[in-house]
Amino acid sequence: GTVMALRGVRKTYRLGAHVVPALQGVDLDVRAGELLALTGPSGSGKSTILNLCGLIDSPDEGQVLLHGQAVDARQVLASTLLRRDTIGFVFQSFNLVPVMTVAENVDYPLFLAGVPAAQRRERVAEALAQVGLSEHAAHRPDALSGGQRQRVAMARALVKRPSLVIADEPTASLDSHTAEQVLGLMRSLAHEAGAAFLIATHDERLTRRCDRVISLLDGRIVPATAATPAALAH
Ligand code: ADP
Ligand code: ADP
Repeated sequence: GTVMALRGVRKTYRLGAHVVPALQGVDLDVRAGELLALTGPSGSGKSTILNLCGLIDSPDEGQVLLHGQAVDARQVLASTLLRRDTIGFVFQSFNLVPVMTVAENVDYPLFLAGVPAAQRRERVAEALAQVGLSEHAAHRPDALSGGQRQRVAMARALVKRPSLVIADEPTASLDSHTAEQVLGLMRSLAHEAGAAFLIATHDERLTRRCDRVISLLDGRIVPATAATPAALAH
């Protein structure tokens, strides 16, 4: 089914008298279990889409639908709970807390959500096993490689079993071998856990292995035939 959908979405930023159209009528479906790549030049609207799908921001016009249910702007303002339960986030720079161990980093979203300690221990162990980092539970992030750090970030994004993971350039700071491992991990997590991954990226290594690629230009989706030659070739 469709986890997250945008319908006729428009978004304009205003900087004083300056009006910046960021999205000019976007329709998008993110389906369960898929890796969906969002590409396009800087300023084309990728981050704006991630913010809307992450329920961090609301459109000026059009609808955002989570599991087919329209989310309204007031809900977004008060949506910490909603977001926490159904959406995980992964960033280019990993955003791990350096003074916390790997396990504490992964545990943090559960701690914030008030999940009981026994259940948290079990879920953290399971998430670390999923990303192959059980042996590093007690280490600090600075003792890990870039790929391992991104896998910690992924375990943290997945520990609450979200139906959607939003990833902003998750492989941009990784070498090719490591990027490949992280991609393989996302694929298996998507297919096993059924989570959808919405990934903003410029990384060819990543886009050519995603299930679908959507290209943006000037706040609009470029029609599919022109958008996916790379995906079709593989
Ligand atoms: P991308 O992620 O593809 O680089 P963005 O969604 O960040 O694109 O930006 C789309 C457009 O909206 C750009 O013209 C950008 O300058 C503008 N924009 C994004 N965020 C803001 C903001 N907070 N204030 C003003 N303009 C913004
Ligand atoms: P709040 O605004 O109430 O803190 P957030 O949007 O920050 O809610 O948290 C929602 C989820 O997104 C959290 O479970 C957390 O794992 C993740 N998250 C948010 N910000 C970051 C960040 N900077 N680094 C890593 N994960 C983050």
